[in-house]
Amino acid sequence: MIDKPDIATLLASVLADEGGAVTPPIVQTSLFSFDSYAAFEARMAGESDTALYTRVQNPTVAAFESLMAGAEEGDAAVGFASGMAAISSTVLAFIKPFDRIACVEHVYPDTYRFFEQILRPMGVEIQYHSASAFESDPDLLDGVAVAYLESPSSVVFAPLNLPRVAEHARRHGTLTMIDNSWASPVFQRPITLGIDIVLHSASKYISGHSDTVAGVVVSSRAHIARIRDLTLPLLGAKLAPFEAFLLTRGLRTLNARMMLHKATADLFVDRLGQVPQVRKVNSPGANTVPGLSGRSGLMSIEFDDSVDIPAFSDALRLFRLGVSWGGFESLLLPARVGLAQAGAHNSMQTFGVSPNLVRLNLGLENAEDLWADFQAALSASLT
Ligand SMILES: *Cc1c(COP(=O)(O)O)cnc(C)c1O
Repeated sequence: MIDKPDIATLLASVLADEGGAVTPPIVQTSLFSFDSYAAFEARMAGESDTALYTRVQNPTVAAFESLMAGAEEGDAAVGFASGMAAISSTVLAFIKPFDRIACVEHVYPDTYRFFEQILRPMGVEIQYHSASAFESDPDLLDGVAVAYLESPSSVVFAPLNLPRVAEHARRHGTLTMIDNSWASPVFQRPITLGIDIVLHSASKYISGHSDTVAGVVVSSRAHIARIRDLTLPLLGAKLAPFEAFLLTRGLRTLNARMMLHKATADLFVDRLGQVPQVRKVNSPGANTVPGLSGRSGLMSIEFDDSVDIPAFSDALRLFRLGVSWGGFESLLLPARVGLAQAGAHNSMQTFGVSPNLVRLNLGLENAEDLWADFQAALSASLT
């Protein structure tokens, strides 16, 4: 039984002062003015925390942040203009030259590029480890400032035992961060498993409609205060009020959408096991690792050499071709397209993925229709 996140209760408290409105107002203003000198001075002196300027504070954004903090069972949250803004602004708030970061292999490719092309030249040392190394080596985090995690990882979807990694991290005083975009708080709430900071590309399941790019970070009050004090105002990649409104709309259906994604993904995993051309299915399900309560709709499969992947891609009718995921529409991303990315210095090239791998984003269309589409495209593409 999945009874959390209880968005309805969280939303009721966010909307308590909105005169019966069931959605938050979009407060489209850059600044908030003051009635008196005394009130202005008190705000600048930090004696009150009323809104001042939308780069750092806005009521529509605050409503979304409070829902996310509740959903992830953290104390506080801060929204960003994109998932990458959330990731870069969070890591930069906690890292300095000569610090060490331990990161999972097959990390999201742009996170890898941020580490390799921005942090490494600034003197930060980054080491990449497999999930099993993170789990089995209790001293892997010795001297490590930040453990940067994804569970499961991108593209190959390797899951990680988060309570165990959190325990190693506590022993070494390592700050733990996880990108929880894949599971969403419906299937995994890392803070309850001992992880310090949760990051999301809210462009994916949180939004759920492929119509906005956004990010959010959830953590303790102290960690969020540090981000709000340093990188949110000084790098300035804030979440906009209208985007926050769309994300709050998305959160209202998050539970229902995730249940449907899971049902379709379960059906695919079940049937893919019977397809002779499918060598491998990468899709961690409920209880694969402690604290993971369901599989989301993003998975990858490896075909054998009998499948012509470009022909398979072109034969699909319901699945569209594209990056990103987490919305209504089903998508296919062949690994060989990602491996061919021009000029990219990317984690999939470094850590390897099979050119026979394709990533499936199972959307919210009828599951039997999706399966029929998959099967028809497969038979049309056998060499
Ligand atoms: C898309 C994605 C990101 C980046 O998020 P943006 O909102 O596109 O900046 C980060 N992590 C994962 C796992 C993603 O899929």
